[in-house]
Amino acid sequence: MSLIEIDGSFGEGGGQILRTSLSLSLLTGKAFRIDRIRAGREKPGLLRQHLTAVEAAARVGGAKVEGAEAGSKCLTFVPGPVRAGEYRFAVGTAGSATLVLQTVLPALMLASGESTLTLEGGTHNPAAPPFDFLERTFVPLLERMGPRVKLEFERYGFYPAGGGRFRAIISPVPKLAPLELGARGEVVSRRIVAMVANLPFHIALRELETAADLLNWGPETHVKRSTKDSISPGNTVMVEIGSGEVTEMFTGFGQRGVTAEQVASGAVDEAREYLASTAAAGEHLADQLLLPMALAGAGSFTAVKLNLHARTNMEVIRRFLDVEFGCRESGQHVEVTVRGIG
Ligand code: ATP
Repeated sequence: MSLIEIDGSFGEGGGQILRTSLSLSLLTGKAFRIDRIRAGREKPGLLRQHLTAVEAAARVGGAKVEGAEAGSKCLTFVPGPVRAGEYRFAVGTAGSATLVLQTVLPALMLASGESTLTLEGGTHNPAAPPFDFLERTFVPLLERMGPRVKLEFERYGFYPAGGGRFRAIISPVPKLAPLELGARGEVVSRRIVAMVANLPFHIALRELETAADLLNWGPETHVKRSTKDSISPGNTVMVEIGSGEVTEMFTGFGQRGVTAEQVASGAVDEAREYLASTAAAGEHLADQLLLPMALAGAGSFTAVKLNLHARTNMEVIRRFLDVEFGCRESGQHVEVTVRGIG
């Protein structure tokens, strides 16, 4: 049996190398072996989130897996045929449930029938796409490529307890249509959403005030949310910028010892960098668009920048698919093109 050998330490050396390999192994039917998993991270090896992503991919693709244990630095994954259906994947900690969804979503949006997924774990985690980002930024762009992905939010999950839950109902297509995301164009909507779970409401109010002051946006942009339906306390502030092409979102995550003002100004810094460019995609969206675009075999988008995460992701994608990525600096953005060479 031939295996694609992946070095989990190359480039950024993070969990994305594993998740992208799982997604593309399911779609191509190519088996892979990865070693030095997450060697670039403080706690290398498989953590709960990565393990759940492996288990999810294994169930969706009826795969044979070796090395799927907590802390494991080496894994072999031999996929079988992808099966649409009903699945429940629970991270069991506050590890990101959105990253687990993103691992199996590409295969299920190209599967032979509809799937319903229940995902449990963290819904709003630092260093992962928050649920709102999937719903308002990422999924609408995927839907422009053909599939339907209906997201239903049930409960927040924050570090450290997790316990969040949402569902995804995926109606697939046989082939993804290419997406062309040119320069951003005029901004048509603006929102700042500040949310607290089991925390004083003044935190959200201070975040709204700080973000609005820094951005010079009026009170009509403010959205306040408060919930008790979460096991852990939690807080996020999300700065949302809509243009004809895309709704982008920049998130600050509340943490112990970090003031509400600091949380808000972190999100604003990213939003300002975006506004100063003419790109449609911020840096996080950019790395997440690479895989669906490569599956479509063609397409282009403009990005604020391409970070190491994105460049690493390109390398992993090229190990599984015959595609070429082009990057061209142009004015106030980078233009990324994807072209199938198979
Ligand atoms: P680890 O090994 O710790 O799991 P990783 O490589 O999986 O590392 P990151 O590089 O931190 O994790 O990123 C995970 C994904 O989450 C990336 O696709 C990134 O774009 C996305 N992401 C991170 N922060 C945000 C955010 N604020 N909004 C949207 N997406 C985000």
